[in-house]
Amino acid sequence: MTVAIDNHSAAVTAVSGRDLRVPLVQGGTRTYANFDYAASAPALTEVTDRLAELLPYYASVHRGAGYASRISTDCYESARGSVARFLNCADDQVVVFTRNTTDALNLLAACVPGDTVVLDIEHHANFLPWRRNGRRVVPAADTIEETVDRVVHELATKPAALLSVTGASNVTGEILPLDRLAALAHRFGTRIAVDAAQLAPHRRIDLRACGIDYLALSGHKLYAPFGAGVLVGRRDWLDTADPYLAGGGAVREVTTTDVEWAPAPQRHEAGSPNVLGVAALAAACDTLGSLNEADATEHERYLTARLRDGLESTPGVRFLRIWPDSTDTVGIVAFTVDGVEPGHVAAYLSAEYGIGVRDGRFCAHPLLNRLGVDGALRASIGLGTRADDVERLITAIAALVDRGT
Ligand code: PLP
Repeated sequence: MTVAIDNHSAAVTAVSGRDLRVPLVQGGTRTYANFDYAASAPALTEVTDRLAELLPYYASVHRGAGYASRISTDCYESARGSVARFLNCADDQVVVFTRNTTDALNLLAACVPGDTVVLDIEHHANFLPWRRNGRRVVPAADTIEETVDRVVHELATKPAALLSVTGASNVTGEILPLDRLAALAHRFGTRIAVDAAQLAPHRRIDLRACGIDYLALSGHKLYAPFGAGVLVGRRDWLDTADPYLAGGGAVREVTTTDVEWAPAPQRHEAGSPNVLGVAALAAACDTLGSLNEADATEHERYLTARLRDGLESTPGVRFLRIWPDSTDTVGIVAFTVDGVEPGHVAAYLSAEYGIGVRDGRFCAHPLLNRLGVDGALRASIGLGTRADDVERLITAIAALVDRGT
């Protein structure tokens, strides 16, 4: 399953699209250099293999007594175990399948019995859902330490039911000290939720060890791009909140006048679920859970550092950082090139070098406003990234700057 890292020239593991050839504007083709893992990651080979195995048995779950139906139901239900093992869930945590992180956080927002505290650096998915109930926004400070102090001050000043933070910024890749934040939040009787859309694909998360109460992630960012996501969380709020969607599968008993809802997770999974998406997500969790974490992290750190160093030596390149003092990031680098619109840079990279990056405001408008930029480029690294991809990106940006466009 694992491809050996040979001086970082090989990818850590096999992903779909690695050998895709893309047309170049100057003629000919080139293998695609994908630097857009943070938007959506390609599928792991193990994920597509698992789906190919399951497809002949695909059938409706929880409803049929036929053989295929039983296999599909087993597969769907056992996927909860794969997710729970991957995240080392605590005994009172349930795994609810959703469409993605946005869906998972909206579901959680519908279950929180009180105010939620958030930072102003969040992706909109962890910012907008909380507007519906009491949302209190804490502006991040210039250092992580001071930011943690501000959160503590907010929680100490007025009780909050939940603190919801990103695990890793989708713009800068910077990682928050989740175990410390969890311990501090608990001291004030506040629970903590983590938007792990960007952290989970890069680092193993141990919910039990960190004391995280809720976690949301998306399969399509976790090398399982088949439309499933997850909300993991403590059972009590999820068991008592009104169902997120009302319909079949979420109930114990229905009469013409009344309904008895099922407990979580079924309570929040009304309607026919995305069985194949969930199977894909489980396969990704099993595969990532068995990867050598030290090798994968070392490979990513090496490539990220090389990308930063290479871009740093190019005049006019500026990096976006929330906390210049932070030392650990996942493989995400956001930058601007002086005098060139990010959209123009992204189009040039694609047309002339076969490189895919993201440009724009990354669904994090408050953060971009705070950083004082209208838009930027984001290059994100994943398990299929190789050192020659990184060199290609560095060369392309240097050539653009030399050209003086
Ligand atoms: N949270 C973070 C940190 C993200 O980066 C993203 C997507 O980019 C999301 C949430 C939303 O993910 P999805 O679109 O899969 O719901």
